[in-house]
Amino acid sequence: MFMTERHESKELLFHEVIEKRCVLRDGEANRLKILRQGLEGERIYDRLWEEIGHTSLMIFRGIWMRIENAILQLDALVVTDGQLIVNEIKNYTGRYKYEDGTWSVNSFQISEDPLAQLNRTAGKLVRLKYLDNQQFDVEKKVVFVNSDFNLTTSSGEGRKHIIDRSLLKHYLRDITRSRSGQNASELASAIREYMIEDPMTVPEVEAERIKAGFYCGRCSSFDLELEHFRTRCVRCGHSETFEYQAVQAIIDFATLFPEQSITKQNIRWITGGAVSDRRLERYLNRYCTLAMRGKHSAYTIDTLNLGELLKMKGYASKYEKDKQILAD
Ligand SMILES: [Zn+2]
Repeated sequence: MFMTERHESKELLFHEVIEKRCVLRDGEANRLKILRQGLEGERIYDRLWEEIGHTSLMIFRGIWMRIENAILQLDALVVTDGQLIVNEIKNYTGRYKYEDGTWSVNSFQISEDPLAQLNRTAGKLVRLKYLDNQQFDVEKKVVFVNSDFNLTTSSGEGRKHIIDRSLLKHYLRDITRSRSGQNASELASAIREYMIEDPMTVPEVEAERIKAGFYCGRCSSFDLELEHFRTRCVRCGHSETFEYQAVQAIIDFATLFPEQSITKQNIRWITGGAVSDRRLERYLNRYCTLAMRGKHSAYTIDTLNLGELLKMKGYASKYEKDKQILAD
């Protein structure tokens, strides 16, 4: 079973918001492409687990851990009785070569070294034996999920810790022969103790670059007609409630400017003044937590994940009562 949801990273969310609200610079567009490709690879991996079945296993997905002073990001960690299995997931495409500790694609050396990342992560997990007085072995593999990936290597070490797409299902099936029982449960609780929130800091973005206002959730166009309770996209006809749009804008603001407070004034700015102050205040009180009271009230939100936040705060059940508002 999956022990954690796989969410978009803060860095990916940030780039997705600037893609909608700014003109992307080259570096940003490249970074967005890489981050999307990475997440897509992780989703391919998850889907394979869904196909194979994972109810008897404990699988942590997309987690961050702090062990001693090291911060680790784990794409997937399977916890079984007496074993932690680390899978570093890569969605590379093309013809790669790995020799003498160096990776290259089409003879160009790349800066990323998946095997070094894997070894570092696995090495730190071993520390839990001493820190938490647990008994387990650490297994590790870099898994390449894209069938359009080809690797040449004469390194035995490399081959030992690499699984490509053609062998991936067999590899995962092999894991299902292990058991996640009482011992795994204890290991899983130890893992949870070392888990931390996504610690990445996002780049700074100048407020002047940001396009304020509401945009279509389907095609990202800012060309919307504003009706009484909802917006309608002039380009594609998609319709959303003001409330949905306002929550999206609050999340956009929090994603772009994590160091700044969520205030009525800031949200009024990013919504482009599309919503009356009275409504805005209602949405802030409903979807956010009041952190500072008074003239300069400031809020926080529990998650940057739109779907999760709406669900948490009962958005659907509210609109269930009035299907007219939600009707597309
Ligand atoms: Zn649209």
